[in-house]
Amino acid sequence: MIETCFINITKTPESRISELDYNNIEFGKIFADHMFMVDYVDGQWQTPEILPYGDLNLSPATSALHYGQAIFEGMKAYKNAEGEVLMFRPLDNARRLNLSAERMCMPTLPEEIFMQGLTELLKLDSEWVPPTKGCALYIRPFMFATDAFVGVRPSANYKFMIFCCPVGGYYANPLRVKIETEYTRSVEGGAGFAKAAGNYGASMLPSKLAQQQGYQQLIWTDGKEHKFLEESGTMNLMFVIDGKLITPALSTSILAGITRDSVMQLARDFGMTVEERRISADEIVAAHANGTLEEAFGCGTAAVIAPIITIGYEGKDYELPAVETRKFSNKVSVELDKIKTGEAADIHNWMAKI
Ligand SMILES: *Cc1c(COP(=O)(O)O)cnc(C)c1O
Repeated sequence: MIETCFINITKTPESRISELDYNNIEFGKIFADHMFMVDYVDGQWQTPEILPYGDLNLSPATSALHYGQAIFEGMKAYKNAEGEVLMFRPLDNARRLNLSAERMCMPTLPEEIFMQGLTELLKLDSEWVPPTKGCALYIRPFMFATDAFVGVRPSANYKFMIFCCPVGGYYANPLRVKIETEYTRSVEGGAGFAKAAGNYGASMLPSKLAQQQGYQQLIWTDGKEHKFLEESGTMNLMFVIDGKLITPALSTSILAGITRDSVMQLARDFGMTVEERRISADEIVAAHANGTLEEAFGCGTAAVIAPIITIGYEGKDYELPAVETRKFSNKVSVELDKIKTGEAADIHNWMAKI
């Protein structure tokens, strides 16, 4: 049975929508009018609220700030030609949030609260979903520990929130990436499969060092041998080698991206062979040498498909074929765009109308 929850709604006295320039949106800096919030107290989720976007008032001892019980999600909503708002695979985000919550010893959130909160929030802020092609409303659900307590133990109280940012395209240029062989993002048995805040904090220094060497991003390798490729920055990693789509198999050190899953599904729909398995850096170098490395790209909600043009490994740069020549990534990004804006049939039931 799906229960409906009552949401206490306080509308903003004055919308800020007129400040938004659809043709010039900076990623992650502009916030829609409202936010959704629900507290977990005494072992129970309380009455959810929607209120004007604004600052929080927190104790300096807030547990999440010290011991890292903080998780998040990232998803997008789009407009179709009729101006209706469509969310892309929101239930998958609700489920992944709960997988992250379990790993971080946090309470799970009933899917109905997630879905209803999201739906009501988007109804109120539907004006903030850009109608422009290539733009979307980025949605940030997150949960954190709120006990004001100094000591390492799971918090008793939590806050789950959702806010939204209108966004344009993410990465404009093809990426130069470096295969990282010193630092590790996550290891088997760690929390790399969870969208836990600390994973990103720990990745910033190695990413910055790579940027100083002229790369925009890293390809993370396995923590044991630094031989097998895992992810690209905060995206999943994919290659087209000899006509086959190849991506690292999921493990506890890899985040199960919803874009990754969608791209693999579309590849199968196109009749392509899809392989989820270990891929070594040496295999990529060999495929580059024999001319079978056709495409490499990162995939995730923010950038959707981010083509990789250069791969740096052990001091050498390997140049990949020009982005215009890449049949698969170009076709899959067009197809994904069409599904998201209602131009193509949604045969996998990915879109949820608000
Ligand atoms: C969010 C994320 C991804 C991509 O997941 P999507 O569901 O496709 O957005 C991949 N890797 C990491 C580490 C991530 O945090």
